[in-house]
Amino acid sequence: VSDVTESLRQSAELERAKSEAEAAARAKSLFLANMSHEIRTPLNAVIGMTTLLLDTPMSDDQHDFARTIHASGEALLEIINDILDYSKADVGKLELERQPFDLRRVVEESLDLVTPRALEKSLNLAYQIEEGTPEALIGDAVRLRQILTNLLSNAVKFTHQGEVFASIESERAEGSMQRLHIAVEDTGIGIAADQLPRLFQSFTQVDASTTRKYGGTGLGLAIVKRLAELMGGTMWAESAGPGQGSTFRFTIAAPRADAEPAQATLSGL
Ligand code: ADP
Repeated sequence: VSDVTESLRQSAELERAKSEAEAAARAKSLFLANMSHEIRTPLNAVIGMTTLLLDTPMSDDQHDFARTIHASGEALLEIINDILDYSKADVGKLELERQPFDLRRVVEESLDLVTPRALEKSLNLAYQIEEGTPEALIGDAVRLRQILTNLLSNAVKFTHQGEVFASIESERAEGSMQRLHIAVEDTGIGIAADQLPRLFQSFTQVDASTTRKYGGTGLGLAIVKRLAELMGGTMWAESAGPGQGSTFRFTIAAPRADAEPAQATLSGL
């Protein structure tokens, strides 16, 4: 017979420390989510008013100043949106829509957003949706576009010559479910093998010089991977090494819109 009082006390202590740590982490994320929301409201006013200001008569200098305020406001808003998404995902509050959408349109809209930057850098930008892929699907088009835009703009950002190519393939899953395999491939700076798994951790960039040279917060990939997971898929990156380009791949599961008994089911979603 042995006395287990001490080991029981220790495990109770551990349990308590663990739940305290979890509560603290949740409180931190909730605080971040609330703060970013509070910050967005006045920031939207700054951006909105600057847009109006830009349409009023001003000297060239004044116009330049106002344009800088506008661009910085937009950049700040993007960072805050990332932080908001990240903290929401962290406390499990990121919710997805379930609405019919057109896959090709989502892909084209995402490409449209990065086209100006790709043109500036003389990069080729192309996409292919494999024949037979159902394009009428049900899911969260806005969040899917967010994933694609993020991967595409990273690809454009880290590529100095060559091309960025998006491809979509699909396979049938159970019932009316479709599994999509989406890849964004670039001929850019590439990624060292030991960095590949780290990219998807929050606040992680390949190295400190990345921040100096390319900017960014290191939150984008952590968020979009989480989104892909919420859509029933996953995300990973492949690269043959520095200078060899990179491919970011993700999967999602989505029901085909035409396979749903239209109105009746949709209204209940
Ligand atoms: P951010 O771009 O805001 O720094 P991300 O989470 O989107 O944050 O990306 C994290 C890091 O992953 C980037 O800083 C970069 O080092 C690396 N990375 C992402 N996409 C690519 C790419 N297409 N080619 C090379 N490196 C990439």
